[in-house]
Amino acid sequence: MINYLSIPWIMIMHARQHIQHTPEPVAIIGAGPAGASLAYWLASAGREVLLFDGSGGSEKHCGGGVPARTLDQFPWLRDIASPSTQANSILFTADRGQSAEVALSRPITLYARSGFDAALRNLARGSGATLIAGRVRAIGRDGPCWTVRTDAGEFSAGFIAGADGASSLVRRTLAQPFSRRALSLCAGYYIPASDPRRISVAFLKRRAAYAWFFPCPGLASAGVVAPLIGARREELLHEVRAWLAGLYPGQVFDFSRPYAAIVPTYHRGNAPYRGEGWALVGDAAGVADPVTREGIYFSIQSSALLAAAILDGNNAAYGPMLSRFLKSSFGGAVIPNICLFRPFFTYRFTQLLARQQDARMVIDRFISGALDYRNIKRTLATLNLK
Ligand SMILES: Cc1cc2nc3c(=O)[nH]c(=O)nc-3n(C[C@H](O)[C@H](O)[C@H](O)COP(=O)(O)OP(=O)(O)OC[C@H]3O[C@@H](n4cnc5c(N)ncnc54)[C@H](O)[C@@H]3O)c2cc1C
Repeated sequence: MINYLSIPWIMIMHARQHIQHTPEPVAIIGAGPAGASLAYWLASAGREVLLFDGSGGSEKHCGGGVPARTLDQFPWLRDIASPSTQANSILFTADRGQSAEVALSRPITLYARSGFDAALRNLARGSGATLIAGRVRAIGRDGPCWTVRTDAGEFSAGFIAGADGASSLVRRTLAQPFSRRALSLCAGYYIPASDPRRISVAFLKRRAAYAWFFPCPGLASAGVVAPLIGARREELLHEVRAWLAGLYPGQVFDFSRPYAAIVPTYHRGNAPYRGEGWALVGDAAGVADPVTREGIYFSIQSSALLAAAILDGNNAAYGPMLSRFLKSSFGGAVIPNICLFRPFFTYRFTQLLARQQDARMVIDRFISGALDYRNIKRTLATLNLK
């Protein structure tokens, strides 16, 4: 059976052989992981690319965690010059205090997002993309020609890719807004990393919510993520502080750098992902994992699919390809999302991890990306889990 995660590479190689040169550049709005990798692929294949970014170097709020699957799928990420650390275990804690540590056979690489994003932008520039610093204020259309209005002036383009994150201007202008059910709220703090090799995750009483501590290089990221509906920033911040006080008793934290941010996760209502002359990738398309809220891998993967479609001269193929990819990635995620976060289940789950090496191995394989939601259920069913 074809592993269609490998298709973008095949298509990009194929498309490079009969690339169609058009006079109009591709305008990519947003140079996070989705936009910068799209720019890298298109410019490497000889397309003229204008890559717009308005972050001004400020850091994207993120845990910066990248599992082994991402680096296997996109090996060029291993070579980017960005400070990183490697976490080789995860401590899971259930609401009732039960805990279990899972050793990772393949570590999770943790990046500080400012360095990671800057390295990706350099890669895009090195491959020939033009980076234009400044916010895009509006996009307009005259027939097949787009106008991009920015702080740095006006630019023309033949195609617009919206890689502008959770509050995407491109989505707001050309597609429908996200349903609130597709959105999660994250709130937390940047604090010194006291345990540089271990990630901590705690299941909370709150529905579909968990707390994390990611020891990124520089400052660690600690936070709580919960469905946006019913979540309030101050309550989540309070839960982070209470959790950290239990996790590191006696330690005094500097809570002077709070943050809050939205993650759009996969939801069937996030489509359409494209229209005539435009497409959405990454958070702007709403491709993050609806359970873990991991988004970097899925954002880059969506860009690989769009690059393949553009280079093949068949932009319309992008929507169905992305839908198939997301369904195959998250099709089995409904059950975990319903039960994973119920206190009884999280207690049993953590107890199981603490007691059984086989269960820890299954979770280790899931975290590295060797198992997905569908086959993790099958694999767990084959174990003698008492
Ligand atoms: C608190 C938190 C923790 C997370 N932790 C993880 C994690 O550990 N691992 C993981 O895989 N995922 C994590 N995610 C999800 C992940 O951060 C996102 O899925 C990922 O960053 C999406 O990449 P992107 O390129 O689509 O968007 P972004 O990274 O948001 O990049 C969008 C870019 O567009 C720019 N932009 C926006 N509007 C405009 C405009 N009008 N003009 C010009 N530029 C514009 C922005 O400045 C930004 O640079 C986390 C998210 C949050 C909120």
